[in-house]
Amino acid sequence: MLRASVIEKEAIPNMQSELAGSIIAAVRQVCPDRDALRALHEPVFEGREAEYVQDCVRTGWVSSVGSYVDRFEEDLAAVLKVERAVAVVNGTAALEMALRLVGVRRGDEVIMPTLTFVGTANAVTHAGGVPHFIDSDPVTLGLDSAVLRNHLLEVADRDGATVHNRITGRRIAGVLPVHIYGHPVDLDSLARVCSEFELPIVEDAAEALGSLYNGKPAGSFGRIAALSFNGNKIVTTGGGGAVLTNDPELGRLAKHLTTTAKQAHAWRFDHDMVGWNYRLPNINAALGCAQLERLDEFVALKRGLAKRYADTFAGSPRISFVHEPHGSMSNYWLNTVRLDSADELDTVLAEINAAGIATRPTWTLMHRLPMYADAPRSELAVAEDLAARILNIPSGVKVARAGV
Ligand SMILES: *Cc1c(COP(=O)(O)O)cnc(C)c1O
Repeated sequence: MLRASVIEKEAIPNMQSELAGSIIAAVRQVCPDRDALRALHEPVFEGREAEYVQDCVRTGWVSSVGSYVDRFEEDLAAVLKVERAVAVVNGTAALEMALRLVGVRRGDEVIMPTLTFVGTANAVTHAGGVPHFIDSDPVTLGLDSAVLRNHLLEVADRDGATVHNRITGRRIAGVLPVHIYGHPVDLDSLARVCSEFELPIVEDAAEALGSLYNGKPAGSFGRIAALSFNGNKIVTTGGGGAVLTNDPELGRLAKHLTTTAKQAHAWRFDHDMVGWNYRLPNINAALGCAQLERLDEFVALKRGLAKRYADTFAGSPRISFVHEPHGSMSNYWLNTVRLDSADELDTVLAEINAAGIATRPTWTLMHRLPMYADAPRSELAVAEDLAARILNIPSGVKVARAGV
């Protein structure tokens, strides 16, 4: 039944709503390759990926020891312009470690946006913390620092260098901004608010590898930051993540804690803390080394695609393309459009997907998920409005290449 109705819709384009019809036309104009449009963000392996992975298989160094992990960490630190990068099993684990390393302890609250991927909130929970949700900035789509400041003035109690939530009684341990879809948050004003309240910044840069804020890499601003190399990110290791920091002691601890806190010794198994087995396997790091070699090219292609989408949507009265924020250079991980009306999203999504174009709404807001329904929060009106009106359209490198 479902199949039949899908085919019918595709065959009779005038059954589509005007909004869906104009998005379908615009996307096909930008990318005539129908096959490429079936995925939101597909990985591309056409550099030295197979060579490096084969090298791991040939030498037997596929797992927890091998030179690609060191090389990947060095390459990442160079790209991000940070002191230290530590490769781990995924982005959620990287975030959990980052939060623990800035001192998040059981029962502490961590400020974060409600509009983000669930991994951000889960990392807070895994670190023993409680997410505290703040509204989104309609321009950057990330945490709104003005809302954060007003909210903290309302709920925060200062006691020396410690901040408590006077409503819940819990300590507020840090701020976790997310660079949504690759667009950097307003880091200058966020840094001002965080230093006013003496709260450390942990950047969730999972989607923002290759993005710049005032010419500096996203992921190099916080005390510590996390990246993800999941299969749908701009660069992938299959699964993977990294902790980034300019603090050598935090970097050393990140490495130690994610490698079972083993003390270096030729044969002894001595461990001085309860550690984690979060180390990225060598075979995944090998894939990552090859992918990183292509990052500049991927960013350039994706920015070219964003420009074409922006130009094409510029003529649509009811659809606006979400541009990179002023002063930032976005990697445009996922291209985003905003509809003028809030009640047509479901119909539009159904119709565009039925036409064979991968289109997704933003994530269900964190405070709408059952496990986070009772979490503390600010007013969340902007995030609610965005969630009702934005959608992501095909954004991968293959899409970017078609139609050039
Ligand atoms: C992908 C992603 C993560 C988690 O990364 P995984 O590698 O999937 O664990 C966290 N936060 C954001 C915003 C992400 O997009």
